[in-house]
Amino acid sequence: MSNYHINTKCIQDGYTPKNGEPRVLPIYQSTTFKYDSSEHVGKLFDLAESGFFYSRIGNPTVDAVEQKIASLEGGIGAICTSSGQAANALAVLNICGAGDHIISSAAIYGGTSNLFAVTMKKMGIDVTFINPDASQGEVQEAFRENTKLLFAETLSNPTLVVTDIEKFAKLAHKNGIPLIIDNTFATPINCRPIEFGADIVVHSTSKYMDGHAVALGGVVVDSGNFNWDNGKFPGLTTPDESYHGMIYTKDCGKAAYIVKARVQLMRDLGLTPSPNNAFLLNLGLETLHLRMERHCSNALAVAKWLKINDKIAWVNYPGLESNKYYNLAQKYMPNGTCGVISFGIKGGREAAIKFMDSLKLAAIVVHVADARTSVLHPASTTHRQLSDAQLAEAGVTPDLIRMSIGIEHVNDIIADLEQALAQ
Ligand SMILES: *Cc1c(COP(=O)(O)O)cnc(C)c1O
Repeated sequence: MSNYHINTKCIQDGYTPKNGEPRVLPIYQSTTFKYDSSEHVGKLFDLAESGFFYSRIGNPTVDAVEQKIASLEGGIGAICTSSGQAANALAVLNICGAGDHIISSAAIYGGTSNLFAVTMKKMGIDVTFINPDASQGEVQEAFRENTKLLFAETLSNPTLVVTDIEKFAKLAHKNGIPLIIDNTFATPINCRPIEFGADIVVHSTSKYMDGHAVALGGVVVDSGNFNWDNGKFPGLTTPDESYHGMIYTKDCGKAAYIVKARVQLMRDLGLTPSPNNAFLLNLGLETLHLRMERHCSNALAVAKWLKINDKIAWVNYPGLESNKYYNLAQKYMPNGTCGVISFGIKGGREAAIKFMDSLKLAAIVVHVADARTSVLHPASTTHRQLSDAQLAEAGVTPDLIRMSIGIEHVNDIIADLEQALAQ
């Protein structure tokens, strides 16, 4: 991995062609790879030699993108997945099983919240959701003997809570467990959680990383910093009989977690991205640094405009000085947070729906964080499975409109808001 500035890494890292090879990362659209001897293939299986044998476990196009993202986040390795949901599932299941317990910030993406509270619960993994603003003492009370990880989002979707990553990292480490941070909204351009003590970083690459709303994907990045050999993680420190007795901490050192995620769980669950999607993700990553700058400056201008509009009840954007999380945002994301803002229109749920239906440039889509400006009403869409009490817990009010500011000219975005508000 290079020592370039992050903007250069976006373009240059992951793939370096040798003499006469394609300048641009090729799409290796092949499930399998040919070798001259069975002995060679055996060595690949033993991890005695590096190489590709089956695209469920690894593929050269996907591998290049994994290396680029690991470099952007400052990790030692990464594994790409078919979606962000798959990344979160893989990150947790790699160190948790039936009988274990996890602690998560309550301010997280609705899909992740369902994954933890419903599906993982059925698998025997218990979750406790905590208020992200709770004191260290209060969070400490949620810890149990069988707690295996602490989970939060750098910048929560859609409530835009800024997590105090250092506070969470200290608590996790004091209790001998890793901190997993979903860094989807901030992206490594605006925040690199590993620098603040996070052990594992996950993303839905479907958002800003792809940036054009063309390919679902996710990624898990390993910092290589967590010491798994503390008695709490037998899956990493005792022989894996399904992988000829490999002891991940002994045989893979700092890469124990990320190697296990690949050779054991990716092998068994097959949450693999396609080489074609990895290629598209790589194209998105090449301009991530440019796009994030524009998403952030546009969003700040729109947030400031909404803030002084008398038809607007409230505006939530951590880049506004009046925002509750302004100081934390300045600490963790000094160059800007993201392009997503949320706000409420005077007149509540009905006014919100009328306003949304009147927008012309901003489209109603169940997606955020791509080049086009879009809007969504979480209470009736992404968060509709949650009860009113759970909605309140997640910080989603019935009038909340989530707006993902794109990279169009900011004056056109504001003009669209103005005409829709006039309706
Ligand atoms: C979208 C999102 C996910 C889920 O990702 P998919 O790619 O849609 O599966 C997880 N976490 C956050 C913060 C997200 O925004």
